[in-house]
Amino acid sequence: MSKEKSAGASGRGVATREAAHAIGAQIMGAAGAAPDHLTHRAAPPDTRYWAKRTFDYCGRTLDRGQIFRLKGVANDKLMLDLDGYFAPFADGAPIYACNRCGEEFKELAMLEGHGKARHDPKRFVPPSPPIREDGEKRESYENRLDEWRVRAGRMADASEDSRDRHENEVAPLDLTRTQASREA
Ligand SMILES: [Zn+2]
Repeated sequence: MSKEKSAGASGRGVATREAAHAIGAQIMGAAGAAPDHLTHRAAPPDTRYWAKRTFDYCGRTLDRGQIFRLKGVANDKLMLDLDGYFAPFADGAPIYACNRCGEEFKELAMLEGHGKARHDPKRFVPPSPPIREDGEKRESYENRLDEWRVRAGRMADASEDSRDRHENEVAPLDLTRTQASREA
């Protein structure tokens, strides 16, 4: 994976383009030459956020570190208050883009976590089911098959469990704030 390429070029490009928009809007505003609707269009209020944990948002799964825009859904404020889902992404900060799917990330380590989870085919390979031996009784074989099913299921769960445990440590949910935001 060419980390430097994906980290540098595309990341800076995004930040600079937005900075240019903002500066352009300021100049137009100061000159007083542009009609209001044009000024608004030049500086859209599109703060970006970064996902502090893996979660589903509006039909897609965001990975930890992934940079995205809010869709203005009812839960946005609650999730922001919970503090463990996402936080504003500072404009101009470096961005690390995935060279497989183009999604952008806050930290290189987070991009690598995404790469492992989404693009690494070796991430979780369930063990092959047992093969019925010559002369093995049907009952005995089915028992072995059941044991295999349980073991494979546990292994699949364990790989998600360890991700969840890690994310609960680095991005704990602040549940004390749910009541306040419901009342607000
Ligand atoms: Zn990717």
